[in-house]
Amino acid sequence: APLLVAIDGPAGSGKSSVSRAAAERLGFGILDTGAAYRSLAWAAVETSADLDDSAAVGAILDVWTYAITLRGQQRVTVELGDGVVHDVTAAIRAHDVSGLVSRVSKHPEVRERLNEMFRRIVAESGLPGVVIEGRDITTVVAPDAPVRVLMTASPEVRAQRRAGELDGLTHAQVLADIEARDAKDAQVVDFFTPAPGVTLVDTSNLNFAQSVEAVVEIVRA
Ligand code: C5P
Repeated sequence: APLLVAIDGPAGSGKSSVSRAAAERLGFGILDTGAAYRSLAWAAVETSADLDDSAAVGAILDVWTYAITLRGQQRVTVELGDGVVHDVTAAIRAHDVSGLVSRVSKHPEVRERLNEMFRRIVAESGLPGVVIEGRDITTVVAPDAPVRVLMTASPEVRAQRRAGELDGLTHAQVLADIEARDAKDAQVVDFFTPAPGVTLVDTSNLNFAQSVEAVVEIVRA
């Protein structure tokens, strides 16, 4: 089985980009679990399913084929049972999708099924190691991972980082969006308090390279 590095944290903590760079340094794969929740929200919109209805969202999981690359540039594809493969890599990053994901990620049955999928993707990866990042990886998906990290940053720093990625939105709008999304997500999983045995990495005062170094050092320790 691959060596697992579990990383949790809120949007804008640096989690995604830092996890990706750390995985590359280590020669590991990277599994971005948020991409699956985003793809599920995208699929619900695509098929006009009710995002608040866990059975309707579960019905998508019954038929879909989800694929994500673990090495190199991320590519995410979804097939909804009709043979048409949709490349959703860009679409799942759209602002309107981000605002909808919490509505599919709040269903416990949906989370359980995705967690099973994540464990299967890792087990079948054939890689020496996989960095797996999300909100509940250190606590639910891989609580026994030999390396577990909770990455945080102050809300202001997180909004600043995100504002650079989303053009056309002011800092205040980005901050409001991030805080609203965190508040909704935090009702489902607490990703602000490190569970016992989880190493806290606060990137508020670290640049990108320093954040990557911090994770690599924890893995190599
Ligand atoms: O990490 P990212 O911002 O792409 O996650 C998008 C959304 O997916 C989160 O806002 C959250 O609702 C959901 N998510 C989750 N559990 C995870 C990863 C993501 O609930 N492990």
